[in-house]
Amino acid sequence: MDKKTTMPINLTINGKPVSAPEGSTILEAARGAGIRIPTLCHHPDLTNVGACRLCVVTVEKARGLQTACTTPAAGGMVVNTESQEARETRRFVLEMLLSDHPNECMVCETNGDCELQDLAYEYEVPWPAAGATHHKYEVDTDPNPFVAIDRNKCIVCGRCVRACDEIQNREVWNFANRGFKTRLVAGADQPMLEARCESCGQCVAYCPVGALYDKMSVGVARANKVEKVRTVCSYCGVGCSFDLNVRDDRVVRVTSTAKAPVNGMALCVKGRYGYDYVHHTDRLTKPLVRRDLLSSSTSDERRSGRSSDLVEVDWDTALNLVARKLTDIKSSHGGDAIAFFASAKCTNEENYLFNKFTRQVLGTNNIDHCARL
Ligand code: SF4
Ligand code: SF4
Ligand code: SF4
Repeated sequence: MDKKTTMPINLTINGKPVSAPEGSTILEAARGAGIRIPTLCHHPDLTNVGACRLCVVTVEKARGLQTACTTPAAGGMVVNTESQEARETRRFVLEMLLSDHPNECMVCETNGDCELQDLAYEYEVPWPAAGATHHKYEVDTDPNPFVAIDRNKCIVCGRCVRACDEIQNREVWNFANRGFKTRLVAGADQPMLEARCESCGQCVAYCPVGALYDKMSVGVARANKVEKVRTVCSYCGVGCSFDLNVRDDRVVRVTSTAKAPVNGMALCVKGRYGYDYVHHTDRLTKPLVRRDLLSSSTSDERRSGRSSDLVEVDWDTALNLVARKLTDIKSSHGGDAIAFFASAKCTNEENYLFNKFTRQVLGTNNIDHCARL
């Protein structure tokens, strides 16, 4: 490891001596010491751009306020994150943002889970005066089946642009025009799916406000109405985890969490949006067994090839039947008369156990996996 990167820097933040690894920004040094600096465009998973100016701080001997997310921390630096000038500037920035914002929190999907709303409350930003010029974009115009867009709420922080670019490598989002006319666009102002979008929803997960939101959850999944249950994705063996948002015993949304050990905030389209199977009426929730396997039908009847009806049974009955048949076949023909096929939808641990069961319990190497792993 490069020795330079492990050298600590010693500085003072809000009168407190702080030590941070070399290469840290002021923001990272402060957060590492438990000192909060508000941000909107910053996210620890993404590159820093210093766009929103919320993180401005006073640095002794420096000219003007400095953006904490882009200014490197240096030895001997004296930083004040709560100077009057810094706080007033933040409040002014928030006032500017709200002056061109619908401020319709009461009917907003993101109410209660909105970083702008929280900061406006914290900094006691007044309701904008009537008559300010507002953008008037049509809402949810993109045919993407999962991601909805309300550009009226976009604060041009660029988190979606960087998430799509740096995490998903799809480079769908960008900004068209400049100044007041700046507008979030997909590709060359195309529908998202025509601009290489693969509907992973990373842009939604990183949007700090309600400008990008999950179409499938509209009207049902507000933050204060759901209980979050952490679980592992059932679609493949990578083992991504996320929070099922549950309301009235139904899954109404999936949200990613930075605490997921394998995937962090990242999910694919299946993990984030493929949850409608959970309550689908076609879903099998109980084992089904051919009636003749349960009854005392003769082997002649079974050999006739006519398949009997499928009947619902409990798990004990189904598993006992499978165990009995495996034991019968093994004792009459040997374990090699049986073959096992594993699934990439199972976790690594499940496939490992399946492998052990096949080779050690049934005594055969007849095992394969749909992905040939
Ligand atoms: S994005 Fe946030 S501030 Fe804007 S309307 Fe929605 S909840 Fe309110
Ligand atoms: S859904 Fe994924 S691929 Fe599509 S724009 Fe958002 S981040 Fe990019
Ligand atoms: S859509 Fe959301 S994440 Fe993207 S720039 Fe606008 S506010 Fe930021």
